[in-house]
Amino acid sequence: MEYITCPMLIGGELTYGSGGEWIESIDPSTEEPLGRAPAGTAGDVNAAVAAAKSAQHAWAETTIWERRDMLRQLAAAVRERAEDVARLEAADGGNTIANLGNDLFKSANQFEYFAGLISEIKGETMNTLSSGMHMSWRVPYGVVGRIVPFNHPFMFATASCAAPLAAGNCVVLKTPETSPLSAGIFAEICARVLPAGVVNIVSGYGLPVGDTIARHADVRRIGFTGSVRTGLAIQRAAAESAIKHVTLELGGKNPLIVFPDADPVKAADAAIAGMNFAWAGQSCGSTSRVLVHESLRAKVTERLVERMQAIRVGNASDPASDMGPLNSAAHRDRVQALVDIGKREATLLMGGNRPEGAQFDRGFFMAPTLFTDVTADMTIAREEAFGPVITIQSWTDEDAMIAMANGTEFGLTASLFTNDITKALRTAAAVESGVTNINGARMHFVGAPFGGIRNSGLGGEECLEELLSYTETRSVHITL
Ligand code: NAD
Repeated sequence: MEYITCPMLIGGELTYGSGGEWIESIDPSTEEPLGRAPAGTAGDVNAAVAAAKSAQHAWAETTIWERRDMLRQLAAAVRERAEDVARLEAADGGNTIANLGNDLFKSANQFEYFAGLISEIKGETMNTLSSGMHMSWRVPYGVVGRIVPFNHPFMFATASCAAPLAAGNCVVLKTPETSPLSAGIFAEICARVLPAGVVNIVSGYGLPVGDTIARHADVRRIGFTGSVRTGLAIQRAAAESAIKHVTLELGGKNPLIVFPDADPVKAADAAIAGMNFAWAGQSCGSTSRVLVHESLRAKVTERLVERMQAIRVGNASDPASDMGPLNSAAHRDRVQALVDIGKREATLLMGGNRPEGAQFDRGFFMAPTLFTDVTADMTIAREEAFGPVITIQSWTDEDAMIAMANGTEFGLTASLFTNDITKALRTAAAVESGVTNINGARMHFVGAPFGGIRNSGLGGEECLEELLSYTETRSVHITL
């Protein structure tokens, strides 16, 4: 692949910014250099916010049908570039090329979904007096900041613009510092399809780029996807400059509960599907904790081992690979450190290090890793790995199992397997989770709210609630 110099987009211009510093990007499968993106500065953010602010009035003045059509053009342009993006993203990010079609589908689909919903941006009327009427209007915030993580760079970059744009806002988007290159393709698409300043893209590090967006007084609404630690920092920074609406999509340590009447093979297979090995477990919704009734522990464990041994780890750009590397050296070190703690706390059944073989001497690979004899107090049971790591905890008492399921700071996704509908619904109500799957995992459809509770976040996305959350309500009373 030719070495890529990735542009930012500010005020309709593809630009390399004002700082003159670069972030080098390497292929996590090979550690070979792939390209570079500008290390954006606070000045670049200020220019992007100013461009968004000056474009926003005209953008909000477009008819809903003009905005709808431009969102549809964005979807079509994403589809045209889908193969380029998939090739680049597999090399730059480490997600397997065989599965990247899903990300591209989601990017285009999100634009089309919010284009279709655009006429649902409605207020209400209330008859207050015989001679009067109260109305509510939904209006855009103005400039929206969106900050996205490394695990699906193109999908998050694109999808996170759809709802704010549909609602009449302009966007300043910060891309992740590892795997920044595919955002250059999105920048080219936006420069072609949208009026100048409607979407602005700044690459760079959390400090200064993300932080400057979060605390900029003209950014009235922030949508963040990433870790709890950064979510807390963004809330603090946002609160220091102005009153802002902040929504957060954060991490998870997601349980999959197996009741004694469940089919152990189906439950284990769902845990494998839910872990998302194609992304090396780097998914916020990964089913990383299997809480299995003691009577099924052996069968579920046996099936997990069988399925995890069959995973073909390899170069993410090879269509035969089921799982690629972790995203970066730093992230691999983080996952390894947690796994090393797990080795001291629990019983390691498989993995725990690089896969064996000379082909894994380079690249940030980690073998599919399985721990058993895990208890709720252990670090490996409580901290998000964001890697291909599953833990098995067994239980006999239902109340103790619910306490185990709720025994982390998170509340993103949960899955449970039982044929008893009463037990299923009782458990779904008791487990504190934003998204719960009964007899399945990873079932998520655009239109159904996706988002965490507790420290997993604030605010549902990919649904009408997300679209409306990019508007604020004004009340108007008219005396007739
Ligand atoms: P991260 O929090 O380290 O970084 C996310 C983004 O925030 C990056 O663009 C980064 O540069 C930026 N950032 C860092 N410090 C900042 C600061 N002080 N102010 C503003 N921005 C700052 O997360 P990550 O490691 O890139 O992603 C992994 C995390 O994201 C995991 O915890 C995962 O669960 C979570 N995630 C959640 C969802 C969801 O929908 N709930 C989806 C994907 C990932």
